[in-house]
Amino acid sequence: MDDCIFCKIAKGEIPSNKAYEDDKVLAFYDLEPQAPVHILIIPKEHIVSAAEITEENSRVVAHIFEVAAKLAKEKKLDGGFRIVSNAGEDAGQSVKHLHFHLLGGRTFGWPAG
Ligand code: 5GP
Ligand code: ZN
Repeated sequence: MDDCIFCKIAKGEIPSNKAYEDDKVLAFYDLEPQAPVHILIIPKEHIVSAAEITEENSRVVAHIFEVAAKLAKEKKLDGGFRIVSNAGEDAGQSVKHLHFHLLGGRTFGWPAG
């Protein structure tokens, strides 16, 4: 996707503050952090949202959760953390490239806040 900001970040065409990277995924710090630790984890492959996860592309999602657990340990989120993926208009998804927010370092309300 030529006009996708997260594809550009994944390719290094737009700079980001990286927390983890391998050939399949990138984790980088959110520009507008909503918690003391707020990292976005994305597949390098363009997938629009959680609504587009299929048998063919779901392996990377499992990998993203492995990376999330590793980052949570690394960032010492021992008290807990939250992983969120907004999909579509109703959820307020603002970037149309699948991403998982890893949030920690404070307590959270439910379902929002
Ligand atoms: P969404 O609202 O789609 O669930 O989350 C998109 C997230 O991407 C937001 O938290 C927003 O702050 C973050 N974001 C948008 N553009 C950029 C960017 O260019 N760089 C970084 N690091 N974060 C971004
Ligand atoms: Zn993309």
